[in-house]
Amino acid sequence: MQTEQMIADVVEQVIRQLNPAPHDGSSAGMRTGAVPADALPTRPGVFAEVDPAVAAAKRAQQQLIAAGIKIRAQIVNWIKQTAIDKAQEWGRIEFDETRIGRLDHKVLKLELFHLLPGVEFLETVAQSGDDGLTVDEFAPWGVIGAITPVTHSIPTLTANVVSMIAAGNAVVFNPHPSGAKCAAMAVEHYNREIKQRWNIDSLINTIEPPTLRSAEEIFKHPDVHLLVATGGPGVARAAMKQPKRAIVAGPGNPPVVVDETADFDNAATSIIQGAVFDNNLLCIGEKEVFVVDSVFDQMMAAMRRAGAFALDAGQIDRLVKVTIPWQDDHYAVNKDYIGADPQVLAQVAGATVPAGVELLYGETDESNPFVAEEQMMPFVPFVRCRDFDHGLELAIKYEHGFGHTACIHSNNLDHITRMGQAMNTTLYIVNGPSTGALGAGGEGYASYSIATPTGEGVTNPLTFTRFRRMAVSGSLRII
Ligand code: NAD
Repeated sequence: MQTEQMIADVVEQVIRQLNPAPHDGSSAGMRTGAVPADALPTRPGVFAEVDPAVAAAKRAQQQLIAAGIKIRAQIVNWIKQTAIDKAQEWGRIEFDETRIGRLDHKVLKLELFHLLPGVEFLETVAQSGDDGLTVDEFAPWGVIGAITPVTHSIPTLTANVVSMIAAGNAVVFNPHPSGAKCAAMAVEHYNREIKQRWNIDSLINTIEPPTLRSAEEIFKHPDVHLLVATGGPGVARAAMKQPKRAIVAGPGNPPVVVDETADFDNAATSIIQGAVFDNNLLCIGEKEVFVVDSVFDQMMAAMRRAGAFALDAGQIDRLVKVTIPWQDDHYAVNKDYIGADPQVLAQVAGATVPAGVELLYGETDESNPFVAEEQMMPFVPFVRCRDFDHGLELAIKYEHGFGHTACIHSNNLDHITRMGQAMNTTLYIVNGPSTGALGAGGEGYASYSIATPTGEGVTNPLTFTRFRRMAVSGSLRII
């Protein structure tokens, strides 16, 4: 009998080792189905499977609605302040995990959270007249399924959360696998504190480890009513073909046009400020510059004065061969160099640049792959064009119809107007850095999901609401 008990104990121990407790804290063997109501999860909001994550989000969303709008506002303000307070620590953690971009800018992206809007965006609209009173409200969708990129894992997750919770929703994330651990860490912290402060369960949920299969399960889940995808062309296509509403923040390849009337020094500092941000990982970051021939040399000199480092033709050739090599029948960006430091790119190019240099640049023609590809590296190609019209033509061609972001440096009102109309981009920046369109170097609120192909633009709490109307016929008008 004793031997049988010993064997049973050993078997149980082996089974436990083979099936460790799931991240969500539910007991082993409960990977699908509802989360036990009374269990305090060890990692609140972090799930190995989609079903329990959606179930938890659904329950927490109902708690959020019951708590009321004042509590929503408190939660959102607390999340914004937490991102700011944790910027140093979390910026470092994200940088260590993803190994792309710049540590100082990972930190800065979180410190900028004061620029995000909150519940004040949800203004009720009322109309009254002889026939009564009508009230238009901005209501939540319920549970949102969201995909985030590796380029800004915690910032995109947190900015989505701020707007989604302000609008009264809960969310399930499928982050990029290379930034999923830091995303889960932030999710866990937010949920733990929200539970303690407001007694609401996991409003914010994430899949760890995320896979394409779990993304697909979120897309298809019947309790997920709205999808939000932030990323490149693959995820944009995948989200838009789902049979439910999708808000897609897709790729960009922002061109810059510099004409003969520009302030070249301002153009140079602006291009540098935008393109160096996180080593040009931003979807809005300046990726290629078209300069009118008559002022091309002046513009190149201004870049040098502003601290950028020029590569010559041979160095650019070497850089291209390694970072955007020709493979089979197309150029393919070498992922090892996305978000790399300029010193690393310079080494590849065979150049030695001083430690403080933040951006490399150089003259290329339009066929250079740095022009056409969304390269996300701190090297910006400068292309000569005959005149403004030629520059505009090239800007339209290489923005690829993404409708994302374009910049101009000019003091010619006709050029500024024509380019704005012709580019038809979501963001259009005049005489400033691309970051100016998100409140850093310009006016306006910030967001880390710029919904381009689906048209919602700089996402905010209203983006994640459903329109609802109450019409009271013939009464409640008090005048
Ligand atoms: P990525 O496209 O490689 O991945 C983005 C996310 O989509 C990841 O979570 C990835 O796992 C997921 N994904 C990819 N293919 C998928 C599919 N078929 N089904 C489901 N999920 C899928 O992009 P990235 O390298 O993480 O981020 C950079 C890209 O994101 C750039 O193209 C950049 O312009 C874009 N971006 C856009 C915005 C915006 O606001 N418009 C913001 C940030 C980044």
